[in-house]
Amino acid sequence: MKGDMYLVRSSDDEILKRAESGGAVTSLLKFAMESKMVDAVLAVKARDGDRYDGIPVLITDPEAVVEAAGSLHCVSPNIARFLKEYLNGAFNMKIAVVCKPCDARAIIELVKRTQIQMENLILVGLNCTGTLPSAAAKQMFREEFGVDPADVIREDIEEGKLTITLKDGTEKEKDLDELEQKGYGRRENCRRCDINIPIMADIACGKWGTDGKKATFIEVCSEKGGDFIEKAIEAGYIKVERPDRGAIEARREKNGEEVERAEKWQKKDFAFLREMSAEEKFSYWLEQFSRCIKCYGCRDACPICYCKDCILEADRGTILPGEIPPDIMFPMIRTVHVMDSCVNCGQCQDVCSMELPLSQLIFMLNRELADIFKYEPGMDINAPIPLKSVTDKELAIAGVDIQF
Ligand code: SF4
Ligand code: SF4
Repeated sequence: MKGDMYLVRSSDDEILKRAESGGAVTSLLKFAMESKMVDAVLAVKARDGDRYDGIPVLITDPEAVVEAAGSLHCVSPNIARFLKEYLNGAFNMKIAVVCKPCDARAIIELVKRTQIQMENLILVGLNCTGTLPSAAAKQMFREEFGVDPADVIREDIEEGKLTITLKDGTEKEKDLDELEQKGYGRRENCRRCDINIPIMADIACGKWGTDGKKATFIEVCSEKGGDFIEKAIEAGYIKVERPDRGAIEARREKNGEEVERAEKWQKKDFAFLREMSAEEKFSYWLEQFSRCIKCYGCRDACPICYCKDCILEADRGTILPGEIPPDIMFPMIRTVHVMDSCVNCGQCQDVCSMELPLSQLIFMLNRELADIFKYEPGMDINAPIPLKSVTDKELAIAGVDIQF
């Protein structure tokens, strides 16, 4: 049931041999398909064996789940958008989705916008302490770790360190803060992310609290998740034990450390903007957006941008065609449309042709809105979307004064 916690291992010797953390997630996914709880699994797989280039894959053969096992830190595919656009929002297929916290949150926001059918999903959430930008990661492995990126078979981000494992089994580690001061390390949005355990998914899986055992710590986060785990135990796919109080506390502490690290980054990244006057902020963003080439990358990548008939298109009359940079209403409209529900996934900033600090702006505004409306995007499927439900009167009562 919701709230239950388990230390989980696969019952399958073959999966156990290949798995990093006891093979729990692999066995659960296999069970989901073989028991017909789902028709397919949506996961991420290295493209042609290249761990710096991962792609979302829809798996319908239970045996193929094993090939998608293991973490890929150097890729961050747009799972929510993929589910909405290429899998018809799961309206006609039952899917188990392997997701990071920001993926699960984006899915929940799209469910609220009737773009995804939650009843057909099982969200298998994975703990996340950040992802690395692919090209910069290769350069960092070469220059800071002195290794060939092709020799890296695993990365771990924990306790303020980035640890890599090489083909020959050797491990190398570096202080994450030092790497990030040099411009390496995690994607910028990941540094600011304070949601590491995907408690908005049906189950939250990770290694915190396992005390080095070959097992996965799983928290059941919904009744659907509880039903899933109980059926997998009954069918003999997984073996479970209850974590003791020490294990639960260790997991809580690890999460607390990461949240603290994220809050420091939020403070650092937002401080200079928050110290500016409204006029200074406006000039700063005008200057930034004067470099926009209206490639529409940010709109097309954002999981929260879902309108099929977008008001920013040239034929809608709001933004004149052929003008570069576009009128300031272009970024203003996009920002206002997504800022109440931004899940800090960083996809907009990753794709921006002009490298504008888009997720920095939108996530910062989102934090301010979250304070006013007490709304955390993607955390509670039953919470109404603030800017869809708020009235002018309520805005006036709240004394809302959101400024760029
Ligand atoms: Fe992700 Fe950017 Fe959209 Fe926020 S605005 S949800 S960071 S793509
Ligand atoms: Fe402009 Fe960047 Fe968005 Fe392209 S991705 S439209 S350059 S802000």
